[in-house]
Amino acid sequence: MAAKKKSKSTSKSKSPQRATKPLSQLLRLPSGPVDLSSLDTAATHGFPGKGKEDGPALTQALAPEISDLQERLYANGRSDPENAKRVLVVLQGMDTSGKGGVIRHAMGMVDPQGIQLTSFKVPTDEERKHHYLWRIRRALPDPGMIGIFDRSQYEDVLVVRVEQLVPVSEWNKRYDEINTFEKKAADEGTTIIKCFLHVSFDEQKARLAARLASPDKYWKYNPGDVDARAKWPAYQQAYADALERCNTDYAPWFVIPADRKWYRNWAVAQLLREHLVGMDLSWPEATFDVAAEKARVARS
Ligand code: AMP
Ligand code: MG
Repeated sequence: MAAKKKSKSTSKSKSPQRATKPLSQLLRLPSGPVDLSSLDTAATHGFPGKGKEDGPALTQALAPEISDLQERLYANGRSDPENAKRVLVVLQGMDTSGKGGVIRHAMGMVDPQGIQLTSFKVPTDEERKHHYLWRIRRALPDPGMIGIFDRSQYEDVLVVRVEQLVPVSEWNKRYDEINTFEKKAADEGTTIIKCFLHVSFDEQKARLAARLASPDKYWKYNPGDVDARAKWPAYQQAYADALERCNTDYAPWFVIPADRKWYRNWAVAQLLREHLVGMDLSWPEATFDVAAEKARVARS
């Protein structure tokens, strides 16, 4: 009898298994020199389950709480746009690190009406006429919204640096500019969560090979990715410098071990949940006389 009662209350429990310790601590990049090779790409820091078999279920279990918090954020954006907060999730990582997978599996749990997703590609002719932050500024989330950047301002110190698209003197001053830019966004009420999806050289090879192994994955394969792969050390160095020089309290970097897709998806969803909880979001007050409106509806 007692056992039966217990299992009933467990199945009814609304709060899913929590991370063993907040991921905003476990995955936060410490300040100081960054050595990416010392950060395990296959780690499962804080994961409360057994492994791959319960990864998707534990990710999905976060959906109700994330949805509720996102709705509060959105409601505040509608009621009081002047003061409403915003969230910006920045996703960076080498090709195949899973930016798309995170958007589908972690961010996909959020009401699409509350999401502003921007994928940054090679700048268009129009974008090229402007400062590199022009297109980024235009994509910052509106009040009450969750912005997602699939690539970001960081491409301007990553691919631009490795491919020598501008002189050193040009990209070298961008770290400070990006910090200033992010500080302003944070001051305007944006909670910034920067995720570096850290995939290993070997895992990238396996994922590229998988894309060539079946016709339904050809569309994901870009021959140019192999050229970038050939410059792996230069990219890792560029990433290390970007992470080190732009790792601030107002726009911190989180390093997400990305060799295990189920962990990567859970970790980003969990990070989003933790940040939304930390924003202390309440429902907006009614801007009308509730009792009077109830009476009017009753009479109508
Ligand atoms: P994907 O994300 O796979 O669709 O690829 C987008 C491509 O656009 C990647 O190769 C990026 O490196 C490239 N890209 C994004 N931003 C920039 C930029 N600011 N300058 C040059 N290339 C960029
Ligand atoms: Mg790609």
